[in-house]
Amino acid sequence: MGKLDTFRQETRTWLEENCPDGAKGSGQIPFGSRSVELEPDVRLWLERMAGRGWTVPTWPKEYGGAELDRDEYKILIEELKRVGARTPLTGRGVNYIGPTILEFGTPEQKARWLPICAQGKGGWAMGYSEPGAGSDLASLSTQAVKQGDNYIINGRKTWTSDAVDCDYIFALVRTSPEKPKHDGISLVLIDMHQQGVQINPIRLISGSSPFCETLFEDAIVPTDDLIGGIDRGWTVGKRLLQFERSTHAGINISGSQGGRTEKSRMPELVKKYVGVEDGKIADNNMRNRLIQHEMNNQVQGITQRRALAELRSRAPGFTSSVVKLSNALNVQDGDELAIAAMGQQGFRWDTEGGASQKEVNTLKRWLYQKSLTIAGGTKEVQLNIIAKRVLGLPD
Ligand SMILES: Cc1cc2nc3c(=O)[nH]c(=O)nc-3n(C[C@H](O)[C@H](O)[C@H](O)COP(=O)(O)OP(=O)(O)OC[C@H]3O[C@@H](n4cnc5c(N)ncnc54)[C@H](O)[C@@H]3O)c2cc1C
Repeated sequence: MGKLDTFRQETRTWLEENCPDGAKGSGQIPFGSRSVELEPDVRLWLERMAGRGWTVPTWPKEYGGAELDRDEYKILIEELKRVGARTPLTGRGVNYIGPTILEFGTPEQKARWLPICAQGKGGWAMGYSEPGAGSDLASLSTQAVKQGDNYIINGRKTWTSDAVDCDYIFALVRTSPEKPKHDGISLVLIDMHQQGVQINPIRLISGSSPFCETLFEDAIVPTDDLIGGIDRGWTVGKRLLQFERSTHAGINISGSQGGRTEKSRMPELVKKYVGVEDGKIADNNMRNRLIQHEMNNQVQGITQRRALAELRSRAPGFTSSVVKLSNALNVQDGDELAIAAMGQQGFRWDTEGGASQKEVNTLKRWLYQKSLTIAGGTKEVQLNIIAKRVLGLPD
């Protein structure tokens, strides 16, 4: 038996013996945090997976990973899905800040922070955007002033997704206001459970939302928790954005990501609402839209697989912008198609009046996924990056 067959066999046996029924389900293993208590079986599964290094399968063993190569990683995901087990951790801890610390952290920082990420001990928020700094991120003004062994942080971050449930936030802050704007920024890790951090949930027109604003008023960060060197935050922070974009694109192999695997739900949906005549979808226009969408979907899957096959690190560089953008546009196109196929049935805000929960969810998904071309850098910002960094066009 070859090495990969042996790995598959051992993995299968271990999973069958160790995955508690109560922890099975779709999606990834959730992380715990000081404000999110996990179900006992889910906690046990998280601990068992972390014990094998399978919450972050490709990370080095000394930091909580299993050092799986790409082929083993793929087998692990297939076997997890085969037994209906949740796949490895995902989220800003293992997918964004973890790989960034792996690349830029000191040995001490790696030893301190990476096991926290790998064991799913604590959620992470992302403190980049500010009221005056979104696409033009380098205009950020949150200040970090050194005082002895600490930085004192003052400022305001906005759109900090999930901050109310997080224990830590990685934030870009201004450490040298006198330098040109890209040169005076650093990346720091902030414990959110301290007096100087205030989190205000932002209520959107659709009701509750994961968004918050996070205010720092004399919050304290030990100087040891500045990642990648003083005033090097622009370089470090941009690499973190590549990890974020790769995660959105399904091509970050730190945690659970790794290419599209679900079957498209679109043919069945369109057939159901538009109807079938003579074995064909009854409306020419909808038939053509569906064919185009399915072709794009296939191309997207192939592009993801090619990007994964070419990976030399946990996530690619500027390619992440290409795949993130094409993925977002393709997903949004699918949502538009679903809403168009459903007609009036696609515009029901709740189940009163005869809509099913699935139909209501489709509408909400269509609205929510508009954010895919904003979050992690807007569509226009990705196009700028592709033009300059991938195609080499002049500024
Ligand atoms: C679902 C979601 C989750 C998010 N989560 C987080 C989070 O956890 N942490 C965090 O820090 N941020 C988060 N954000 C914020 C996100 O990063 C910003 O919204 C995004 O970077 C755009 O910034 P902005 O909203 O200030 O828009 P702006 O930068 O003001 O852009 C407004 C418009 O101008 C266009 N534009 C701006 N500059 C250019 C240019 N140079 N060329 C062409 N067009 C341009 C943009 O494309 C956009 O259409 C989240 C956003 C969303 C939607």
